[in-house]
Amino acid sequence: MATKKVTILENILSANDQLAEKNRSLLDHHGIFSINIMASPGAGKTSLILKTIDILKKTVRIGVIEGDTAAVTIDADRVIAGGAYAVQINTGGNCHLDSSMIEAGLNQLPLEQLDLIIVENVGNLVCPAAFDLGTSIRALIASIPEGDDKPYKYPGMYRGVDVLILNKIDLKPYVPFNDDYFLNGVRLLNPKLQVFPLSCKTEEGMDSWIEWIKGQLKKKV
Ligand code: MG
Ligand code: ZN
Repeated sequence: MATKKVTILENILSANDQLAEKNRSLLDHHGIFSINIMASPGAGKTSLILKTIDILKKTVRIGVIEGDTAAVTIDADRVIAGGAYAVQINTGGNCHLDSSMIEAGLNQLPLEQLDLIIVENVGNLVCPAAFDLGTSIRALIASIPEGDDKPYKYPGMYRGVDVLILNKIDLKPYVPFNDDYFLNGVRLLNPKLQVFPLSCKTEEGMDSWIEWIKGQLKKKV
């Protein structure tokens, strides 16, 4: 019985990965750079997306796929008000996005008119890491108030990403957070991980993140 269960799970994952590759080819065909943003709820996914849109919208054409577990369009409405295209994916209570949901989202976006697509995954530090969506990059947002032990508690997530944003650095004077402990945990799991400490609120550190995106966009042209 146990063997049968394992086989079924592997099939599900490989179907997801196949569709992720299809999404990746479609995005490549349109020269679009794309980011899958993962984080726990409240780490600042929507805030980072809105700041990024605000800074880049004059020169970069941006689309956002918003994953939510309920049919609330709060984040998608904010993205549209902020000046980008947005598609809302209601996962129907599911705790992560998968590549079929991204395929549906891409079908709703004007791909020939976009340079950058940002996917806001469901707030969750466990299973989103296991589902490739077909994006160019997988990014994780950690934030100071969540604490410095998260790499030790969620190794799968920290191992599976290409970029780490450490948000809310403006709260460092008020919250206990040991940078060395946090970063040592990160390095053990993912030695080459690029880290961007920043604050969406004060915009400290935002420049490096924006310059990095611009560099990635240039490579796609
Ligand atoms: Mg959000
Ligand atoms: Zn899940």
